[in-house]
Amino acid sequence: MKAYQLSALKKECLRCRKCAIGGQIINGKCSNVFSNMCIKGSKIMVIGQNPGSEEVKIGRPFCGVSGKFFNNAIKEVLNINRSFLYITNCVRCFTPNNRPPSEAEMENCRYLLDREIEILNPKLIVTLGNPALRQITGNQGIKKYHGKIETSLRYGISVLPLYHPSPLNTNKPDICREFKNDLKKLSEYL
Ligand code: URA
Repeated sequence: MKAYQLSALKKECLRCRKCAIGGQIINGKCSNVFSNMCIKGSKIMVIGQNPGSEEVKIGRPFCGVSGKFFNNAIKEVLNINRSFLYITNCVRCFTPNNRPPSEAEMENCRYLLDREIEILNPKLIVTLGNPALRQITGNQGIKKYHGKIETSLRYGISVLPLYHPSPLNTNKPDICREFKNDLKKLSEYL
């Protein structure tokens, strides 16, 4: 049932044209990217910002530089691979020059996240970076909130905010250390 519902939602995502960024063609590929479709990992839903060009090329979230850092970190800290996690984004389309998504784009895309959460009913939501934190909890300021588990009032689900694993963060040794330290909190939900 979940697989069927998720496949239907994926189709909806791929044909979404609510924003100007929906349906752009980037190097011959449609810019809309859904999730990793990993129902087996749906106890823990990981939410990033939006896909970059590598994700558009492959058609899955987090398969570029940020994704490689993330994969290595979960292996090192939790000894798991990505198949233990459901990975998605709060905005599903590539943004020109990788600019952060606008408020309108975040709101236009929210219906997909609402449905995904309803279908999968995860035990824990892990937000990566500020946009995902704001989308799920309404809070702003990852420096203040990272690593502190709270409950999303909108979704009634526990949330673990983490820094975004982008090179802008992970090239800084302090943030890299904090990211891995915060990641340990995920282990009790596995
Ligand atoms: N950054 C994100 O936030 N999401 C992706 O899918 C890739 C990079």
